[in-house]
Amino acid sequence: MELVIYNTLSRKKEVFKPIHEGMVGMYVCGPTVYGDGHLGHARPAITFDTLYRYLMHLGYKVRYVRNITDVGHLEHDADEGEDKIAKKARLEQLEPMEVVQYYTLRYHKAMERLNVLPPSIEPHASGHIIEQIEFVKRILEAGFAYESEGSVYFDVEKYNAKYHYGKLSGRNIDELLENTRELDGQSEKRRSIDFALWKKAAPEHIMHWPSPWSEGFPGWHLECSTMGTKYLGETFDIHGGGMDLMFPHHECEIAQSVAALGHETVNYWMHNNMITINGQKMGKSLGNFITLDEFFTGTHKLLTQAYSPMTIRFFILQAHYRSTVDFSNEALQASEKGLARLMEAYERLNHLKASAASNVDVKGLKDRCEEAMCDDLNTPIVISHLFDSAKNINLVADGKATLSQEDLDELKTTWKVMIEEVLGLKKDEENDSTNDAYKQAIDLLLQIRLQAKQNKDWATSDKIRDELTKLGFNIKDKKDGFEWSI
Ligand code: ZN
Repeated sequence: MELVIYNTLSRKKEVFKPIHEGMVGMYVCGPTVYGDGHLGHARPAITFDTLYRYLMHLGYKVRYVRNITDVGHLEHDADEGEDKIAKKARLEQLEPMEVVQYYTLRYHKAMERLNVLPPSIEPHASGHIIEQIEFVKRILEAGFAYESEGSVYFDVEKYNAKYHYGKLSGRNIDELLENTRELDGQSEKRRSIDFALWKKAAPEHIMHWPSPWSEGFPGWHLECSTMGTKYLGETFDIHGGGMDLMFPHHECEIAQSVAALGHETVNYWMHNNMITINGQKMGKSLGNFITLDEFFTGTHKLLTQAYSPMTIRFFILQAHYRSTVDFSNEALQASEKGLARLMEAYERLNHLKASAASNVDVKGLKDRCEEAMCDDLNTPIVISHLFDSAKNINLVADGKATLSQEDLDELKTTWKVMIEEVLGLKKDEENDSTNDAYKQAIDLLLQIRLQAKQNKDWATSDKIRDELTKLGFNIKDKKDGFEWSI
């Protein structure tokens, strides 16, 4: 089976062919270290974690680079605004790197809970200032940038005369020139669409480094061009990120790399779609900016309950990464239930005993799942195949069907690979000691019930069953004992 992925640059699905046999170089734009880790961070992280996992499952050696933007990611007007990390640090009287460290650790913690594997390399923009300065020099030497008042800007119009600015996002320069507001005369830029490669620091700007042009800091887009090529080579396989980064960030990345190196650096561009909340875009001003911690604890006013990290992960995987996902309490609750059903079937599968022969057809699950994954990572289809398979597992567990040893082994392997390795789902973390004690207490009650039944003490036996059922327990009598779930 061949892995097919949708390439944003060519706007079509392509068979994935790595540059070096058996190896994949993959770069994903990581978080901006400012503000709390929010839901928007979870989607690219989980999407590209799934790709990373699947490439490794296919046997590739993957070098996965995901950066940390920590020299100031300027949201809207990337060239004129104040560095957010610096602003926060000034307000709170902290060292900028203290702010960076705080948010990086929080981000890592949230990613770990979402079972997102750490990348192979996680470079910080602030740790690559020298390389970024060298990159600016190359663009200047190639003639696609100009210096102005200690800052360096990329000359978009000149670049576009030779190459094509806007090829990724499908925009053209005339449209862009028309749509960007006129410069107010204060700017050092020649044109409104030119973007900063190096910015001279204002006196109050506390994160700055020496350079041939001024004491200043690199433009946001530059770090990804620099660190991507540093760690993955001048041409590498996959570059990913959220769709919101396609313009201007990725468009500028392409322009910078082509200007400096004379050729494209990325073979496959991949973008995950966005998340909305109750049909609305997420935004601080809309009051629907929910952090991951708030989801995990249920403490945001829009949430009616807490949602576990695995519910969030499962919910994101239930949609194809190129379609939008709308978060609502109803949708999350449905995912929570679905995941519980799936994990219960997985648990039951691991306790099934084989019979002499199978009387249900469970063959072909592995191929169907692989086929879906190879079709541009179609995780919702994989999940639906697993739900179909769960029906058979429940039939066997309930004694209504049988499986041969061979079929059972195949089923167990496929489930383990798909659930744990590829989708990265696991049992939700719980407080283990409390959890164990609680399980043992339920087992004890059911043991007492079993003894009562053996003594024909139906009153006690029924009381235990009825009371536990009322509390939401599901009790199943089996030939050799009992089984319970919530
Ligand atoms: Zn980037």
